[in-house]
Amino acid sequence: MEPTFPQFYQDPLLLELMVGIQKLVQTPKGPAVITDRTICYPEGGGQPGDRGWIGTAAVLDTAEDADGRILHYVDGLNSLQEGKEYLMKLDWGHRFEYMQQHTAQHLISGILHSLKGIGTVAVHLGHDCLSIETDRSEIDPEEITAVEDRVNEIVRLNVPVTFQELPFEEAQALGLRRSIKVNGLVRLVSIGEFDIIACGGLHVQSTAHIKQVLYKGSEMIRGHVRTHWYAGDRVVEQIRSNQRIVGDLGVLFSAQPHELLARAAELQRAAADAQYRLQKTQLQLVKKTFGDLVESSPRILGCPVLTIDVTNELDTYPKLVSEAVLDIPLLALCLVQQRTDGTLTWMVVLKGAVEKALPFAVVRERLFPVLQAKGGGKPPLWQGIGTKAEGKEEFLHGFVELLNQGAVGVETH
Ligand SMILES: [Zn+2]
Repeated sequence: MEPTFPQFYQDPLLLELMVGIQKLVQTPKGPAVITDRTICYPEGGGQPGDRGWIGTAAVLDTAEDADGRILHYVDGLNSLQEGKEYLMKLDWGHRFEYMQQHTAQHLISGILHSLKGIGTVAVHLGHDCLSIETDRSEIDPEEITAVEDRVNEIVRLNVPVTFQELPFEEAQALGLRRSIKVNGLVRLVSIGEFDIIACGGLHVQSTAHIKQVLYKGSEMIRGHVRTHWYAGDRVVEQIRSNQRIVGDLGVLFSAQPHELLARAAELQRAAADAQYRLQKTQLQLVKKTFGDLVESSPRILGCPVLTIDVTNELDTYPKLVSEAVLDIPLLALCLVQQRTDGTLTWMVVLKGAVEKALPFAVVRERLFPVLQAKGGGKPPLWQGIGTKAEGKEEFLHGFVELLNQGAVGVETH
């Protein structure tokens, strides 16, 4: 089978074309159609594959295989037959959007290079924004602003975007900002005098079609600064969306846009302060109520013995108890709390003679299976979780039983 003829290079604005179906194939990505020629650009160079229709079948994506045949992934393969001709239509909205993003990427990379000497390592055209991984580990915000302003100036100059084909050696001699990755004839894409690069993708016809670019932000990747940009209609969408957010926040905070940051920081501080005071009050309260419980508990070997199910208390109760027990000199505590996900938190405290009567290793051996418990700790406190919450009564009773058995042993020695 011959490679598919790429009509899109000759006629990048062609929206419809009669095509002959050479083969219908099943691929790991789903059913696909190979035609004799196509107006659908296949995924490549960071630009996604085109969408459209072949007859009534929707083309969801387009990709090229190793033999230069272009696969149109379709929904509705049954409506098509090998050897017949169908009208292929292009999803122009999708194509134009990515031509815009792709050409904007050329121009941004070109100006990063010519204005600031910053090279492009990798690019990505996403659903939200376009990304350019640079060869720098640091870029000043002023450098980015200068590049953004220059790119938008060139957008407004309505500079033609053109292409020519040159033999490899001639193209190589031009000293392009990125190395050429193909052999034979090289397709060179120029944005006036501002950028020239070897590229097999599709581009808008002039920079005015880019409309506008807007810097979104950066992140570090593989030791490089990767910059993110909005281009085309996405810039207006983004500004509108941000305006709405700022407007809504202004109502929420009763503040002007320039006051929002200070107001948010102030609220954050107040919330942290309130949280701190609440925790302190809770701890005082737990110390008092827990202390009263310990006072009125029965004793073994002179130590108060307390077994409690605190499922109805706050989630933070076990943590507060772990702080409260620091002030209590003698104690045998076994605590459980059931959690909303059906599991359970457990805690054991052994302070005083009870520690000899019931070594924690015995608790682990005899009582862990009851809860299917996990966890650990060090004297005097152990804690963890259990997945078998229905065993909680048996766990609490078992603790007292083991303690009583151990106490008899301690007393007789
Ligand atoms: Zn390109």
